[in-house]
Amino acid sequence: MRIYEMTAGDIASKVRRKDLSATECMEEIAERIGRVEPSVGAFLHLNLDEAMRQARAIDNLPSGERERLPLAGVPVAVKDNMATQSMPTTAASKILEGFVAPYDATVVSRLQHAGAVIVGKTNMDEFAMGSSTEHSAYQLTRNPWDRDRVPGGSSGGSAAAVAAQMVPVALGSDTGGSIRQPASYCGVTGFKPTYGRVSRYGLIAFASSLDQIGPLARNVDDASLIYEVIAGYDPLDASSLRVEKALPKATDVSWANVRIGVPKQYGSSGLDASVQARLAEVISRLESQGASVVEVSLPHTEYAIAAYYLVAPAEASSNLSRFDGVRYGYRASGADLLEMYENTRAQGFGEEVKRRILLGTHALSAGYYDAYYLKAQKIRTLIRQDFEQAFAAVDVILTPTTPDLAFRFGEKSQDPLQMYLSDVYTVTANLAGIPAISTPAGLAGGLPVGMQWLGPIMGEESLLHIARGFEKLWPSEGWPALGGEA
Ligand code: GLN
Repeated sequence: MRIYEMTAGDIASKVRRKDLSATECMEEIAERIGRVEPSVGAFLHLNLDEAMRQARAIDNLPSGERERLPLAGVPVAVKDNMATQSMPTTAASKILEGFVAPYDATVVSRLQHAGAVIVGKTNMDEFAMGSSTEHSAYQLTRNPWDRDRVPGGSSGGSAAAVAAQMVPVALGSDTGGSIRQPASYCGVTGFKPTYGRVSRYGLIAFASSLDQIGPLARNVDDASLIYEVIAGYDPLDASSLRVEKALPKATDVSWANVRIGVPKQYGSSGLDASVQARLAEVISRLESQGASVVEVSLPHTEYAIAAYYLVAPAEASSNLSRFDGVRYGYRASGADLLEMYENTRAQGFGEEVKRRILLGTHALSAGYYDAYYLKAQKIRTLIRQDFEQAFAAVDVILTPTTPDLAFRFGEKSQDPLQMYLSDVYTVTANLAGIPAISTPAGLAGGLPVGMQWLGPIMGEESLLHIARGFEKLWPSEGWPALGGEA
């Protein structure tokens, strides 16, 4: 097995035992990136010299210290909306071109303390707004399974980097589905923990009450390993939860004891026939293992997209007001201060970001606040209550991650509403704050299909356990052929 095919868990245990050096691992990863990245475009910044330096530092640690590192020598890619001192952080926006953060995000420093090596920053939709990574101000990222198609978004670079086997694991952020949807399109595992489990300190805020960082990986064990390292209370994030992190049990799932809910509202309009068929196959395989699969009702689902596209832009319009040409990155010229602000924002932000700022500013303005923002917050409460009721009867809820498969470049970029609808199954988890994971369920017509598993607040332990059990029931069909190797 080549090093780039190894899981994060395997790399770490070999590096801990000195069966593999972190340096050797990084050398092969750098070589793999050099071969594959030109045809994928997952990275906005690479810092392989610094990564080699970090790898050497791990190899030079006294063995007692190295043996305690859960991610010893593991190469990790980080979405470009998380602050790093060693590389620029642009959120794929022109307004942050060349910006280098004065500190590392908590997740980044936790990864490094655990022995991980940060190889680069991944492409994304500008400020994490989008579902295809086409809204990046810098470059396209191609889906490794079909390079005429999008990798999904907004964490498209992270998903593509993992699927293309350039890194075993990557970090993404998920405000309405941006970890799970690209994971689904690229055939990898993507996990959004409970809101507040993972510190947002150093994450460029999109919609603060919805944003959550999580891992993209090639299997559930690796996703759990990364989650274990990055989760936990952080005094630097006011919404960080003071709770013990729950880790999945190592045992096999006894399906006869698992109650799975399938929402009757998910699956009506717009569900692709191949995704619908795969869901039916997945359900029958679970039932054949003895799991009980029942219908659950989440009656307020139909309002989820509308509520999300009020709450998220409202918070974004406030969060993005700090990008004014003075404090960060890009500055345009202007005759006076006001004109400088206006020109900077007009030139620095892309179309989708401006659309969100306009929507959000309108929704928050006097006279409209009650009609839009407040109403959306009430719907959010109802959606959370729907889940609470459903989880009284089932352990986990199963849905397709997305209604469709990876689409072609340009197919939805002219129609924002179509793009927004690829989030129908994912936004509810962010609105309710619950954990959710997308796991691959094979290919359809050569493109990956993803299944989403939703759990109750703080239900990570059983959610990850069940997702790993499913992974065994539906083994991977391998990885896309890239880089001239079979
Ligand atoms: N696609 C959704 C949006 O455009 C979700 C983005 C995200 O999760 N960051 O807002």
